[in-house]
Amino acid sequence: MPNNPEITETILILGGTKEAADLARELVAARPEARIITSLAGRTKEPAPVAGETRIGGFGGVEGLARYLRETGVTRLIDATHPFARQISANAVQAARIAGVPHENRTRKPWARQPGDNWVEVETLEQARDTIPPRARVLLALGSQYIGLFASRDDVHFVVRMIDPPKTPLELPDHALVLGRPGDTPAAETMLLIAHKVTHIVCRNSGGTAAYAKIEAARELGLPVIMVGRS
Ligand code: NAP
Repeated sequence: MPNNPEITETILILGGTKEAADLARELVAARPEARIITSLAGRTKEPAPVAGETRIGGFGGVEGLARYLRETGVTRLIDATHPFARQISANAVQAARIAGVPHENRTRKPWARQPGDNWVEVETLEQARDTIPPRARVLLALGSQYIGLFASRDDVHFVVRMIDPPKTPLELPDHALVLGRPGDTPAAETMLLIAHKVTHIVCRNSGGTAAYAKIEAARELGLPVIMVGRS
């Protein structure tokens, strides 16, 4: 039962994705009597505003999340995190069981290769790094924590897009830094790819719509995409 008797439901959305923000907006509009809380890890300095309540920061593992579910009176837990955020998803399953709260998995499905896609599918970021041909110009569409892995490729020019400026200079020997969110249309992504003379894209198969425009742009330009799958 939710802690406040006037509230019929308390829904915790594990967020940090566009889909989670869309879901929060839908639920806030559809269930005015419910408390809708979105949880963010706190990785982005200025996260986009989310409808309903927001809480920020880790819970402290399975135990911490289970405690939060109980103490907050959560009646439903929805995992809408990024599909590569595996730890929090695994924690959510266990914590929901411990706290006796229904759990729903709304993480996205991977993208499927379409006619015209020129994908080189690999399993790991290391394989992606080793697959890049010499002297390529690569849009490295990855989170900042993975960029350092590509530092040994001093024969490659990297284009790195980040939402927040990096706290320390990027370790990549030859790179251009583009600050901002991914373009939401293939046309915007095509302009970026052409402006930087990009020959390859390296990304993970995240699924969903928010990061798909670069895949469509690559298809239109006939560019190879080195795609890291979900193992
Ligand atoms: P992760 O490896 O699965 O989780 C590591 C730890 O971060 C978790 O154990 C948890 O700490 C905390 N955490 C993760 N997501 C949280 C959330 N939504 N609310 C509160 N705590 C959270 O996660 P990650 O890959 O670092 O992703 C972190 C966040 O960024 C997620 O919300 C995810 O949706 C978003 N995101 C991730 C990616 C990606 O590529 N991984 C891309 C875009 C957005 P405690 O154990 O202390 O609770």
